[in-house]
Amino acid sequence: MKTKKIAVYPGSFDPITNGHLDIIVRGLRMFDELIVLVAYNPNKSSLFSVEERMDLIRLVTQDLDGRLRVDCSSGLLVDYAKSQGANVILRGLRAVSDFEYEFQMALINRRLNRDVETVFLMTGYQWFYTSSNLIKEAAGLGGSVKGLVPDVVLERLEEKFRTR
Ligand code: ADP
Repeated sequence: MKTKKIAVYPGSFDPITNGHLDIIVRGLRMFDELIVLVAYNPNKSSLFSVEERMDLIRLVTQDLDGRLRVDCSSGLLVDYAKSQGANVILRGLRAVSDFEYEFQMALINRRLNRDVETVFLMTGYQWFYTSSNLIKEAAGLGGSVKGLVPDVVLERLEEKFRTR
């Protein structure tokens, strides 16, 4: 029997953007199952709580097929992958600036577990400059980020900054 190809797509997703969604849709074409993992550090502050981030990911992916799961973890990524029978870590690459960090992460993860490979997808050109941090910064200053994030994320961002 063919073993299932399961990939984990980890990130902060604070909040999920159209750039992330593009990687998710393309990842689903490559793997039998995709786990979108909110990887968090309890000591790091974020705009959205882990639950809010997972909710938003579920909401914006609800029309995609059932091979997608959303989860969270604050532990070692390769251990999480192993616990799920996943042997691929999926990451998105935007600019040269992403490369060095991603390269280091891929190497350390490979050193920690040689059975897990990191696979990179090049960003869709429309999302080249879309990062959660820039989105938060622009939205926080009252700029419109419509078109860069799903509409429900846009609403939640507006709510967040309205109540701050
Ligand atoms: P960000 O860098 O936006 O704060 P995350 O830490 O949540 O995002 O990123 C999770 C993964 O998604 C990383 O591999 C990151 O490079 C990738 N990613 C983030 N934004 C994009 C985008 N616009 N296009 C492609 N990949 C992206």
